[in-house]
Amino acid sequence: MLNFRNTNWVFAVLTASLIGIHYFYGLPWYVYLLAFILYSLVVFYGCYNVGSGFFIPITCSAQTTDKVIAISFDDGPAEKFTPQILQLLREQEIEAAFFCIGNRIPGNETLFKRISEGGHIIGNHSHSHHTWFDLFSTSRMLADMKQMDQETMKVIGIRPRLFRPPYGVTNPNLARAIRQGDYIPVGWNVRSFDTVIRDEHKLLERVSKGIKPGAVFLFHDTCASTLAILPVFIEKVKAMGYRITRLDKMLNLPPYA
Ligand SMILES: [Zn+2]
Repeated sequence: MLNFRNTNWVFAVLTASLIGIHYFYGLPWYVYLLAFILYSLVVFYGCYNVGSGFFIPITCSAQTTDKVIAISFDDGPAEKFTPQILQLLREQEIEAAFFCIGNRIPGNETLFKRISEGGHIIGNHSHSHHTWFDLFSTSRMLADMKQMDQETMKVIGIRPRLFRPPYGVTNPNLARAIRQGDYIPVGWNVRSFDTVIRDEHKLLERVSKGIKPGAVFLFHDTCASTLAILPVFIEKVKAMGYRITRLDKMLNLPPYA
């Protein structure tokens, strides 16, 4: 299984073997450089592929043959689009997951409360969503994550357990912070790229291809294009005979501590 521990073992043995060969037969220096590049590429893959479970196992979809999917929204609460998304979900009687940013809760308390009251679940997406979050120490990451919990508890009185890494990036520090904080990491297996793809047709086409049993969709309730395609997407999902169910129910995970 490709994970951080196994990778380190394999490369430790490889390095020892190279040194042995070097000692007896001689080796050019670039062989070590190639080994280092290969190691870096594997670790890079692990950091940037949330579904790889390279540093910590992360649930990204459900193992099922049932026609069911879950949708999730990151980076809210956002005054501009979250209310319309909530309205649409209510009309369609759909429950979703909102991985919120802690520092966006103060000032948006009513909206934040409305998410929870709408039957949706709140997940932790860090407090700061800092650009350099991935470079934080374990203790700084954990403090950041706990600050988001506190903001949530202040408004709705419950502590989220589901955590989604900012930018979908994982590393050894984050794996430790998740374990120490007793969070349950949750990813996705269909990334909409709604923050990047501005063309609504392309966006719809991309997400439609991901409609498969047990899929978890990643959207952002901060994007105009998401709001624009959501009604058509939901219609499409239903026309294909699928149900949209709440993420924690589909993945069988406890959403709150
Ligand atoms: Zn995010």
